[in-house]
Amino acid sequence: SAGRIVVIGGGFGGAACARALKRAGANLQVTLIEPNEVFTSCAFSNEVIAGLRKMETQHFGYDKLAAEGIAVVTQAATTIDTQKRSVTTADGTAFAYDRLVLSPGIDFHGEALPGYDDAASQKMPHAWKAGAQTLLLRKQLEAMADGGTVAIAVPANPSRCPPAPYERASLIAHYLKATKPRSKVLILDAKDNFSQQRLFEKAWKELYGDMIERIGLSQGGRVTSVDPATMTIVTEFGNYTPDVANVIPPQRAGRIAEIAGAADATGWCPIDPVTFESKLAKNIHVIGDACLGGGIPKSASAASGQGKACAAAIASLLAGRAPETPRLTGVCYSIVAPDYGFSLAGNYQPKGDIFAEVEGGATSPVDAPRELRAREAAEAERWFETITAETFG
Ligand code: FAD
Repeated sequence: SAGRIVVIGGGFGGAACARALKRAGANLQVTLIEPNEVFTSCAFSNEVIAGLRKMETQHFGYDKLAAEGIAVVTQAATTIDTQKRSVTTADGTAFAYDRLVLSPGIDFHGEALPGYDDAASQKMPHAWKAGAQTLLLRKQLEAMADGGTVAIAVPANPSRCPPAPYERASLIAHYLKATKPRSKVLILDAKDNFSQQRLFEKAWKELYGDMIERIGLSQGGRVTSVDPATMTIVTEFGNYTPDVANVIPPQRAGRIAEIAGAADATGWCPIDPVTFESKLAKNIHVIGDACLGGGIPKSASAASGQGKACAAAIASLLAGRAPETPRLTGVCYSIVAPDYGFSLAGNYQPKGDIFAEVEGGATSPVDAPRELRAREAAEAERWFETITAETFG
C-alpha cells in the first residue's frame, strides 16, 4: 500500500532510514527534512582536531538520495502536529505524513551545566556536533603555547559515542607530543569507569607517558559549572583554568523530539524496540542517538542499523504485516594514534522496552602486538568509507 513517510534529520540514522524506506517500496513517498545541504560527520572528526585529516573528508551531500527518489527538503523542522499528522518547516511549508521518523541526534542540556550556552561554546568548544566547532577546537590547539593544558570535560552516560572523549584525548596528545611536548591533557570525568578503559590506559602509558591525566567521579572530576569569561571549569574537587577548554556538556535528544512530545523527563525518547515507535507519540518513530536504546551505545553504526530496521518495520506496518524482530549490530573503533586502533563490537535484540546485548560481541584484547593495533586502525578507515558510502554515496 502507498504511504507518506517524513524523516527528520539527515545524519547517520535518518539518511540510512530514508534510503532503506525508498528501496523497500517504490510506492512509498519518502521526504527527508534536514537544514544542512551538506552533512558533517562526527565520526573521524577527532582526527580533524588532531590535524590528521582534512575537514572536507567529513562532508557528505544528499544528491544520491535525491536521485533515488527521496524528496530532500533543506529546512529545519520547527513544529509537529500529531493530531493532523503534519510537520512544518522554518519556511512555513507543511508536510503531511502517515508515519514520521525522528533522527535529530543530540542537543545539550543547558540547565545541567550552569554557565554553558551557545556563547560559551565559542570560547569553550564542545565539538560534539561536527563542523565549525571542530575547526574552532583545532584552531585553539594550534594557537596554544608549548607547556599549556588542554582540559576535556566529559559528561555521564547516556551520551553520544561513549569512547569518543578518550579517543579525542589520545589524538590531542598525539598532536601535542609531536609539536608541543611539554603540554598536558587533563580529563575531568563525571564517570569512574569508561568504555574500553583498560585498552585506553595501556595505550596512553605506552604512547604518551604521563601526558594524559584523568580525574574521575570519585576524585571529584565531575564538572558542575563553567565560567567562560575567566576560562574556569568548576568541578566537585576544585577549579581549573586550562589554556584550551573542550567542554562536552550533558546531552539529550535533539530539540524537535521534545516538540513532538516524544522525549520523557530524561530528555531522551522511549521506544518500542521492535518498531522504534515512540511510547509517547503515536505514528512517530525515533532512531539514533535520540532514542533510549538501552544497552546499545549511541554511535553512527547503531544509528544506521536502527534506521534500516525501522524502515523495515514501517514497510511491514503499512502493508499490514507483523514487523520482524530486529537484531542489531554495532561496532565502534577507537584510534589513539594513526597506527594504533582497537574496537568493540556488539549484538543487540529487543528485551522488554529496550535493547539488550546478546552473545557474539567482541572487544580487542588488552595484550596484543602492535601489528594488530595497526590493522585495526586500518579497518577503522575502511569502516568509515563503507558506512558513509552506504548512507550517502
Ligand atoms: P546525527 O548523525 O547527528 O544526525 C542528526 C541530523 O539531524 C543532523 O544532520 C541535524 O542537522 C538534523 N536535525 C536536527 N534537528 C533537526 C530539525 N529540527 N529538523 C531537521 N533536521 C534536524 N560513531 C561511530 O559509530 N563511530 C565513531 O568512530 C564515532 N566517532 C565519534 C566521534 C565524535 C567526536 C563524536 C561526537 C561522535 C562519534 N560517533 C561515532 C557518534 C556518531 O556521530 C553519532 O552517534 C551519530 O551521528 C548518530 O546519528 P543520528 O542520526 O542519531 O544523529
